[in-house]
Amino acid sequence: MRASKKKVISQKPAIRKVVFIISFKHSGSTLLGFLLGANKDCFNLGEFTKAKERQKTLSKKCLVCDNYCKLWAAFKRNLKTTTKRHLYEAAFETFKKPILIDTSRKWAWVKSASSRINCESKIIFLTRNERDRLSFHQRFGDGITRAIVERQARGVTRTKRWLKNRKYLQVKYENVCNKNALKRCCKFIGIEYDEKMFRYWETLQHALEGNSRTASLMKKWHNLSIGNPTALKFIEEHGLKVKAIKSKEKWTKKEKKVFTKYGGANANKLLGYKEDGLAKKKPVMEKLVKKKPISYKKHMKRVFKVAHRIKINKQAKKIAKTKKECEKYVKMIRKQ
Ligand SMILES: [Zn+2]
Repeated sequence: MRASKKKVISQKPAIRKVVFIISFKHSGSTLLGFLLGANKDCFNLGEFTKAKERQKTLSKKCLVCDNYCKLWAAFKRNLKTTTKRHLYEAAFETFKKPILIDTSRKWAWVKSASSRINCESKIIFLTRNERDRLSFHQRFGDGITRAIVERQARGVTRTKRWLKNRKYLQVKYENVCNKNALKRCCKFIGIEYDEKMFRYWETLQHALEGNSRTASLMKKWHNLSIGNPTALKFIEEHGLKVKAIKSKEKWTKKEKKVFTKYGGANANKLLGYKEDGLAKKKPVMEKLVKKKPISYKKHMKRVFKVAHRIKINKQAKKIAKTKKECEKYVKMIRKQ
C-alpha cells in the first residue's frame, strides 16, 4: 500500500497551461512554436484557430502529414463526444501533454480563447523588425506601398494596446536562435530548458498549420517527402539549422520615405527597435487609430450646418450686388 502511495506522489502531473504566441505575419511564430514544442512537456498545436475554421477537414493534413493525420483525427473524434466541450479541453485529452503551444498569432483569438479555458495561460509576444517584415511584400511583387505600411502599423498599435495591461514576455525574432532568449521563454512558461529544443526537427511535431518551410526541416530529418519546391530550396540554402533570417532586399528612396511617413518607423519604435529617421509630423498611424467614429446624431448636425451655410450663401448672392455686401449679409444672418 505504502509503495503505491509513494508512486502516486512522484507521478504528480504538471500543471496544465496554454501558451499563446501573439505575433504578426512573417515573424517566425511557427519557428518559436517548434522550438517550444520540442520540449517533453509541450505539444505544439500550430495555428489552432484553424481547428475552428476547418473542423471537417481536420484529419486530412497537418504540417508533417500530407494525406491523413492520426493525431488530428483522434482530436476530431474527441471533439465530437461532447458537443459543448471546448477545443482546448479536447486537445489536452488527445495530445496528453500538460502544456499546449498555440501559435495562432492574433490577439483577438487569444482574447476569446483565454476567456473560455479553465486553466492557466501565458502570452509570449514575438516581434520582428518591421522593415524585414515588409521586405516580404517587396519580394512577392507587391512593393512597399502606403496601404501596406499603414495596415501593418495599425496592427502593431492595436496589438500593443491590447497587451498594455496584461502580463506577457516579449521575444524578438532576431534573438530566437539565442540560447538565453529560449531559456527566458522556458522560465516564463515554467518548463525545463533542454538543449534538444534547438534541434526541433528531431521531434516529429504534428502542428496544425503554419510555415511549411520551417516544418520541412522535420520532414527532411524523418525522411518524409517534401513536395513543396520553395521548402526544398529553403533546406538547400539553410540546412538543418535554427537561424534568424535577415532580409537582403534593397529599398528604393521612395519606399524608405513611405515607410517613415506612414507609421512604419513609429511602429518599429513601439516594438523596441532602433529607429532614427522618425517622421517629424504627427504620424498618420496615430491619427487613424485615435479617430473615433462619430455618432449618427453628430453627423447629421454637421450635415445640417453645412446645408444651412450653403443656403445662406445662395440667398446672399441673390440679394447683394457686390462681394462685400454679400459677406455682410451672411454675417448678419449667422448672428441671428
Ligand atoms: Zn500529422
